[in-house]
This record gives sequence, structure tokens and C-alpha cells, in this order.
Amino acid sequence: VSKFNELTMAPPDPILGVSEAFRADTHEMKLNLGVGAYRTEDLQPYVLDVVKKAENLMLERGENKEYLPIEGLAAFNKATAELLFGAESVVLQQQRVATVQGLSGTGSLRLAAVLIERYFPGAKVLISAPTWGNHKNIFNDAGVPWSEYRYYDPKTVGLDFDGMISDIKAAPAGSFVLLHGCAHNPTGIDPTPEQWEVIADVIQEKNHIPFFDVAYQGFASGSLDEDASSVRLFADRGMELLVAQSYSKNLGLYSERIGAINVVCSSSEVAQRVKSQLKRIARPMYSNPPIHGARIVANVVGSPDLFNEWKEEMAVMAGRIKSVRKKLYDSITEKEKTSKDWSFILKQIGMFSFTGLNKAQSENMTSKWHVYMTKDGRISLAGLSAAKCDYLADAIIDSYH
Ligand code: PMP
Repeated sequence: VSKFNELTMAPPDPILGVSEAFRADTHEMKLNLGVGAYRTEDLQPYVLDVVKKAENLMLERGENKEYLPIEGLAAFNKATAELLFGAESVVLQQQRVATVQGLSGTGSLRLAAVLIERYFPGAKVLISAPTWGNHKNIFNDAGVPWSEYRYYDPKTVGLDFDGMISDIKAAPAGSFVLLHGCAHNPTGIDPTPEQWEVIADVIQEKNHIPFFDVAYQGFASGSLDEDASSVRLFADRGMELLVAQSYSKNLGLYSERIGAINVVCSSSEVAQRVKSQLKRIARPMYSNPPIHGARIVANVVGSPDLFNEWKEEMAVMAGRIKSVRKKLYDSITEKEKTSKDWSFILKQIGMFSFTGLNKAQSENMTSKWHVYMTKDGRISLAGLSAAKCDYLADAIIDSYH
């Protein structure tokens, strides 16, 4: 008998498990709309040209593989903070930001979660209902209590703004409020600029601490600056805040695990102390971060030519997603002659569309139509081709009825 007999079989991950099921399916029309990874029109994975160019440069230079410092590659940390806040931003000029390289978005969120657990005992993190599934795991495993604020309104397949505001108001003062910087996952529904102002007002009134998760900068609108505007609005108000960043989507560096945690503080002296504690959290967990992805980002952002090329490639990716979004909407509205309003599909932004399909309907999408998606009704448009929009429209209409 095994010494591990007490361990039961863990359930498959609700998102990554979808890809496993997809691989096992042999149907020719099968579609993987589960995981949020960009595919070309041929539904193939895509390595950006700028990434290949940066990697060639790195090879030519014959760079070594020595350990990085605990906080990561200095050139990366500088580039990532500038991309987020803007090179001319006051918070960077005043050196009020503690930036530490993390293991992509997930690892950066986790560093922040441990910081909260350690130095804000009992403080709660407010997360949107719904949110990216891993948020709950991250806070649970770090021992940070969380509760949900209203976000999604099933009646309109839109934002429940009043619910969101009243829940943020009702939370104990000094709570952390987790916000998706742009392209909210899974709903694809973002607050308007006016609504962001009101959210900032309430958070300031309640002395809450905003905690942004920015996993899609440049991927939502196609513009890096536009997608950072929510974060910058808060930073410009002089608030202290946390921001986790990821380069999985916008640079297609999924498996390089490159991202960062940024903590905007009231002074540079506080920022130094915060940074020292983040390093202290990282050291026993993974010692120091991997170098390859950090060098890619630093090279791309650091070279004006590569930086411009990146922006162009990002606009192409964002544009392809927007165009299948439109095509899916056109197909559905052409086929479905009832009065149902499908305009929510067009209003949503980013990689995902929240279809409003419930669990049973989502299961029908998979069992009958071989369309793999999460059971919350989310589909990744980045895994859809123009050629398959018609088929997907049939599947969605059938599943609704
Ligand atoms: N936050 C959100 C909202 C996400 O959608 C994702 C990726 N699906 C992440 C964080 C983290 O991804 P990664 O760890 O690959 O950067």
C-alpha cells in the first residue's frame, strides 16, 4: 500500500482541462475555444516576428545564462514599468514604483497575494463575479480572504455598474479591489472611461487599495496606451496601487512565463521597502526568475524599430479577433430571426466573448458540436477562424434552444 494513499484524484483544471479533452476528440470540425491563446486564421500557434528577431539578436550577442538578481532583469523591469505607466509618468519620475519580475501574470499575482497575506492580515480582496478562474485559487492558496462584487448582469449581458459600485462601497475600508485593467476575463465587458472615474472615486473614499490585473495590454484595443488608461487614471490621482502584468498574450510569450508585479507607493523610500519584501517572498519560492522572456521584452521595447513592429503585429492580432467577432455576430443574426438582441457580442472587447450560454448549453456545444469552451459560456475568439464562424453560429443558436 502506498504512502500516498490518502491523496484522491484532483479534478482537471476548468480551463487547461478543456485543451486536454479537445486533443482527445477526432471530429474534423472540432474547435478549441477554451484557453485564451492567439491562433492564426489557419488556427495555428503564432510566434511574433519581433520575438524571432529579438531571439536572433540575443544569439548573436552570445549572452550568458548566469542567475538573474531576485528582482529580475533590470532592463526588463524598467521597460515593463514604462510600458504600463508611460515613460514620462510622475510615479516613475518620482521613483515611487516597486517593480519585480514575476513568473508571468499568475506568478506576479501570487507575489502580491503573499504580500497582502503577510502585511495586511485579515484584509480582504474583492474580486468581480465572475472573474478569471485562477484568481480564486491564487488567493486561496496564499491564504488571503476574498469576496465577490457584482459585475456581470445576465439580463443585459453587460456590466452591472450599480451593483459593482454598491458592493465596493459596502466592503470594509482598506480592502483590496481586484480590477481587470482591460478586456475583462471572462466577460469581455469593460467599464467606460466615465465609469472608471466613478470606480476610482469610490475606492478613494473607502480607502481601498486598487489591485490591477493587466494581462491584455495592447490586445484589447490594439493600442498599448489606450489599454493602460485605467491604470494610469488611478496612478495619476496619486493613489497607491498594485499592478500585475503579463506578456503571455500581447507578445505571445505564454510559456516563457514573463510578467511583473508593480507596487505604486506614496514615496520612493516606501517603494524600496516594498521591493525588498517582494524579493524576500520570491527567494524561497523560486529563488530568481528566468531570463529568456525578460530579454525578449527588453530587446523589443528597447529598440525603436522592434517596438514599432511589435505594435503593428499586435494591431494585426487584435484586428483579427475583432473581425471574427463581427463575422460571428453577422452569421448569428442572419440565421436567427427571433427578436433576441445579440449586440452584446460586438460590445465586448478582447480575446473572449461571454455568450450567455449556461452550463448545460455550454455542455451541448461540446458534446454535440465539438466546440470546446469553459462551462461558464466563455469562448475564446482568438481560437476562431473566419472560415468556422458559420459553424460556430449554428452551434450557438442550437445550444440556446
Ligand atoms: N489574469 C488574467 C485575467 C488572465 O486572463 C490571465 C491569462 N489567462 C492571466 C492573468 C495570467 O496568465 P499568465 O500567467 O500566462 O500570464
